[in-house]
Amino acid sequence: MLLLIAVLLFSPTEIDWTRARAEAVQLLQELIRIDTTNPPGNELATARHVQKLLEADGIETRVLDVAPGRANLYARLKGDGSRRPLILLSHTDVVMADASRWSIPPFSGEIRDGFIYGRGAIDMKGTAAVHVTLMRLLKRHNVPLKRDLILLAVADEEAGGTGARSIIENHPDLIRGAEFLLNEGDVAYVKNGKVHQYGVDVMEKAALWLRIVASGPAGHGSIPLQNSSVNRLLNALERLRAWETPVSVSPAVAEGYRMRAQQQTDPVLRAAYADLEQALKKQALRKRLLADSTLNAEVRNTFTITGLQGSDKVNVIPGTAWAQIDARLLPGETPEGFIAKLRRVLNDPELKIEILEGSTPTGSSADTALMHAIRKVAARHDPGVPVIPTMLTSSTDSAKFRAVGITAYGFEPFKLDDNELNRSHGDDERVSVENIGFALHFLHDVIIELSH
Ligand SMILES: [Zn+2]
Repeated sequence: MLLLIAVLLFSPTEIDWTRARAEAVQLLQELIRIDTTNPPGNELATARHVQKLLEADGIETRVLDVAPGRANLYARLKGDGSRRPLILLSHTDVVMADASRWSIPPFSGEIRDGFIYGRGAIDMKGTAAVHVTLMRLLKRHNVPLKRDLILLAVADEEAGGTGARSIIENHPDLIRGAEFLLNEGDVAYVKNGKVHQYGVDVMEKAALWLRIVASGPAGHGSIPLQNSSVNRLLNALERLRAWETPVSVSPAVAEGYRMRAQQQTDPVLRAAYADLEQALKKQALRKRLLADSTLNAEVRNTFTITGLQGSDKVNVIPGTAWAQIDARLLPGETPEGFIAKLRRVLNDPELKIEILEGSTPTGSSADTALMHAIRKVAARHDPGVPVIPTMLTSSTDSAKFRAVGITAYGFEPFKLDDNELNRSHGDDERVSVENIGFALHFLHDVIIELSH
């Protein structure tokens, strides 16, 4: 009898997934209706809203101010402490939406044909709603956890990253000891109505934004000057444009292409993907492979000249002229190392290089208990579909957490095709009710796997 009572008390009751999904969908609608366009953000409103819900279930929370009207939400569900914490990270700000281009008002959260519409549905209030609902379910069902589960819904990911930075710099105690983190980044990719791969981003390139400034004598446009600032700048940029940065295939990228090789119908590409590093050493093949602009960005440091400025008067030779460069660095490179190489290429010691923004690229191991858990759950839901470690060529808040030693993966189990993905930051952004339910179930299973 005692044993029976113990079993009844401690065995988690079966979760009603239909109800759980409805709860997450409703929360997503509520979050979309709070306009958190960044700037100004106004994420304090979402933080307070989520706090109320979590506290109703007796979960420990804190609203952490970042700036006036802007805040991060922190919550923690205690495990037994035998394993290190897992962080579920989301951001609650969104990019602007031009309502005139949408067929449904972007802050309505309206459901149509099985989709919840609204700015942030994919990026990334959908996942925030899933994380919050999941935490409430685990608490209500008294699911025993080996790890503390930490929820962070931060401000300002889309603009300055001040929300995540504020956690790391001002509240390191709240994430101390955390082993794993799940954030935005990659998804389950759908082609022709079928999931063909799960992507888990394990590393990302880092942005290094530079301004190259040339100086020279000022003068009148009627008397050309050979060593004018504009001429110096153009000469240096011409050398830069011809620069072929070296190719370097990271293990995650090599593994990702190896796993995708089987799906290639073209026999040349199939062989090349199977061993990308070797393939890139063959001259003709290398040219063909690097013509794929995504592949090109995945295997080298890149730079794009995005802006030029000289005189705004047509007859004036300006004393200074500048160019803006958006460089993206592979893991293993440092801003200082890249700038030193750039200097050699520009080959003009009098040019000034100003750093507008820079950070060091980061990566996490693809061989961890978290990856094994994701693989196991994916195999259960979609047998035979590969789970591929990837490198993001853009950057997210994950980089900040990797830098303090946390294994961070970009992974949201939404099944999306290109059409759905392109709506993120675009018009008529939406997520299906089905995807919300799937992500909820999937992440629940990952947490349970990690709790063994
Ligand atoms: Zn995002």
